[in-house]
Amino acid sequence: MARYRNAVCKLCRREGDKLFLKGERCLSSKCSLDKKAYPPGQHGKSRRIKMSDYGLQLREKQKIKRYYGLLESQFRKTFEKANRKKGITSENMLKMLESRLDNVVLRLGFATSRATARQLVRHRHFSVNDRKVDIPSFQVKPGDVIQVLEKSRKMEVFHNAMKRIKEGQQYPWLELDKANMKGTFLEMPNRADIPVTFNENLVVELYSK
Ligand code: SF4
Repeated sequence: MARYRNAVCKLCRREGDKLFLKGERCLSSKCSLDKKAYPPGQHGKSRRIKMSDYGLQLREKQKIKRYYGLLESQFRKTFEKANRKKGITSENMLKMLESRLDNVVLRLGFATSRATARQLVRHRHFSVNDRKVDIPSFQVKPGDVIQVLEKSRKMEVFHNAMKRIKEGQQYPWLELDKANMKGTFLEMPNRADIPVTFNENLVVELYSK
């Protein structure tokens, strides 16, 4: 499958926002955006563009797409599915992105970035309701139980995760059972609880043209 292979910090600099693509480094003083808070490229520092409505919509779409680590076609498909559901399309879209298995693995704390979470899922280290699942885009539903497989629990990556993960509920829609390395997706998250400051309505405006 195609994937983005260039330096991911450039994506944050391009969007002028932290997209948290490099795990713990994003929270440290090594964050590139903190050091170079201007777009990448030769003219990045001097570039001052007054953005059109279309430009604003496009940038917001790129930001959300990059934050969740999707390519254009995957993102577009998610939007179209969200658009077919009842309710507010922009909220449906964010809820669907939050329900992806790779995102749930990250939010539960088993990985430090979505890229790592996706790789762990692809390498078959998780089950959902006792069935192995290796599809990062798998949509987790309310009541589903996500667990690190028995054979994988001694791996260093999970050992480190257990040291890092705090006890208690980090997000209202997820419950973690640290001792058994499993989490329950309690319910669909409310928009207000999803910790992102995107204006997802701009994506609807962009794709509705
Ligand atoms: Fe973005 Fe993280 Fe790189 Fe900072 S360290 S620029 S937040 S990917």
